[in-house]
Amino acid sequence: MEPAIKRLIELQAVDAEVTRLRARLNAFPQQLAEIDKRLAEGRQQLAASKESLTSSLKDRKKYEIDVDAWKEKAKKYREQSFTVKTNEAYKALQHEIEHAEKEVASAEERLLERMVDGEKFDRDVKSSELAVKELERAAGADRQKLQAEQATLQKELETKQAERGQLLPNIPEDLLATYERVAARHHGIGVAAVLNQACSLCGLRVVPHVFQLLRRDGSSEIFQCETCSRILYYIEPPVEAAAAAAGAPAAPPDATTTTQDG
Ligand SMILES: [Zn+2]
Repeated sequence: MEPAIKRLIELQAVDAEVTRLRARLNAFPQQLAEIDKRLAEGRQQLAASKESLTSSLKDRKKYEIDVDAWKEKAKKYREQSFTVKTNEAYKALQHEIEHAEKEVASAEERLLERMVDGEKFDRDVKSSELAVKELERAAGADRQKLQAEQATLQKELETKQAERGQLLPNIPEDLLATYERVAARHHGIGVAAVLNQACSLCGLRVVPHVFQLLRRDGSSEIFQCETCSRILYYIEPPVEAAAAAAGAPAAPPDATTTTQDG
């Protein structure tokens, strides 16, 4: 194999790592945003519970005033009823008293409803407060974990980038340019191994004379897959693997080895 290809394969491995690390690093802002979002939702829930409690307390105050006001009216009419002279006036006051007492009862009913609601809202606020506390704790821990992970990955990325920088000067410029052009079109993969006489990435068969040249040690020619245009290389498989690939048992030497490559 052409030595430049060997270094290109190393470069491909480094580039794959760089791509993987970049993808993971790119995911961090989103992950951090999700933590913030969960926290914001919890806080919103708490604010809504507090709002419900406050408005329920306001209503309660209002209905308490209503109860008192109607009670006061009923009392006033009752007092007046002792002093009126005519039966009609007495009857009219009785009617007013009845009405005021009805209003007292209905205001008391509304008040009771609000008191029951208030207890529920109070429980909601307390549970929301607990939930927010738990969210804050979890968010802090998650953020810390993510940031530590991010720092580790960033360091790994820098190491890989340094490795890349060391490999580059040893790869001929035109080969590197071809590699980068192909890699850019194929999700960062610019080289492909030949397996079973075919491009391992797109499956296209490699014509026999090219295959022979790829197998030759020290061959300086560069071949690209005709379909996916990736730079091809061939690594002689270990004997057992070659036998397995050919679908034949590795052992008996007298076994009929017919087609090794179809
Ligand atoms: Zn291919």
